[in-house]
Amino acid sequence: MQTAATPLSSLFTAKPADSEKRSSLGARRRHIRIRRQMVGYICISYFVDALLLAVYAETGAISWAIAPAYLVCGIGSALGFGVLYETRLSKRFTDDFLVIPQAVVGLMIMLAFAWLAPQAGFLFLCNLFIVFSFSSLRASARETAVVWTAMAIGLLVLFLGGEKPIGLPLATFPDRIATMLAFALTIGRCMFIGIFSNSLRESLYNKSRQLKEAYRRIEELAELDELTGSFNRRCIMRMLDDEVARAQRNKTPCSVALIDLDWFKRINDSHGHPIGDEVLRTFAITVFANIRGIDRFGRYGGEEFLLIMPETPSAAAANILDRLRLIVAELDWSAFSSGMAVTISAGVAELNATETPDALLARVDEALYVAKEAGRNQVARA
Ligand code: GH3
Ligand code: MG
Ligand code: MG
Repeated sequence: MQTAATPLSSLFTAKPADSEKRSSLGARRRHIRIRRQMVGYICISYFVDALLLAVYAETGAISWAIAPAYLVCGIGSALGFGVLYETRLSKRFTDDFLVIPQAVVGLMIMLAFAWLAPQAGFLFLCNLFIVFSFSSLRASARETAVVWTAMAIGLLVLFLGGEKPIGLPLATFPDRIATMLAFALTIGRCMFIGIFSNSLRESLYNKSRQLKEAYRRIEELAELDELTGSFNRRCIMRMLDDEVARAQRNKTPCSVALIDLDWFKRINDSHGHPIGDEVLRTFAITVFANIRGIDRFGRYGGEEFLLIMPETPSAAAANILDRLRLIVAELDWSAFSSGMAVTISAGVAELNATETPDALLARVDEALYVAKEAGRNQVARA
């Protein structure tokens, strides 16, 4: 039921402003198919009503002219709207599904035939429910009020303007059968609208869930470095500001390390840039696997990474970095490319009580320079 009804509801939720969705050819084709289906349902509905009216005509309850006239008006209007869709003239209207014009035409047909054949007036009045509830699925509160007012005026004219009673043909057995069927069909159509509005709600709920998921993904993408999955520079710098402020507020130690891959240009040159990328990714995964949950690790730029270690004095931080250095050096990098070895150098510094993040970074950078100068594959404390 859901899969069949969902495309219908998508038609109702998709306003012309959904330019992205409309632009896709698949979505447009689906809309065209659904509109054709809708025109088909409406034609069938008028045809079935006309059959019931023919039964009433056969028993003499109403004139023989009513059933064919009703069929022509009903199917004519449905096909008329179908032509507007097919020629894309409907696109000129704000609501290109033309719900309100369709509702107004439907109401006029029902009221006119209730006036012309009051002996079977209930059948047309029942259909008013269907037309009205179907239109209110998409119409705004103002539009619904307009349609309701038009309907109320029509009913006023019908009930007060004519003298003939509004009838429910029950005189003969075929009349009773036709009347029973008319009621059953009305309830069936109400059910269809109920199912339809449920699927509409479901589809809106799904859309809002998809939007939330997309939003979460955008936020994630804005924070993560695409290649390594570590925090990107903007994010790790924000985290550094936060951790520095927190450590100074709480008077707890906080250490920071700047890690740089050694001779990385050579790795790229000798093994190729894609292998270089793979090295960066594997290095990041290795670090993630060996740091604590409270540590923050992000890409500072190129082959340089920042590791923030809250609640860690400089000696402990240097130990952590030395352990990381060993793990990286001992990885079997030749699995990526034969003869390849990768090492890292790091500068570590502990935050001072009144130091700014920039000043701390400058000290960490100096320490890294010392580690490089001392021959690489080592950790230097500021
Ligand atoms: P050092 O030991 O002094 O740090 O030498 P190095 O070669 O690592 O340093 P250098 O700054 O000369 O080179 C860094 C290289 O990192 C150059 C650049 O092409 C490479 N690089 C930066 N970002 C990426 C990346 O995303 N992917 C790859 N494959 N290479 C990158
Ligand atoms: Mg380097
Ligand atoms: Mg570098």
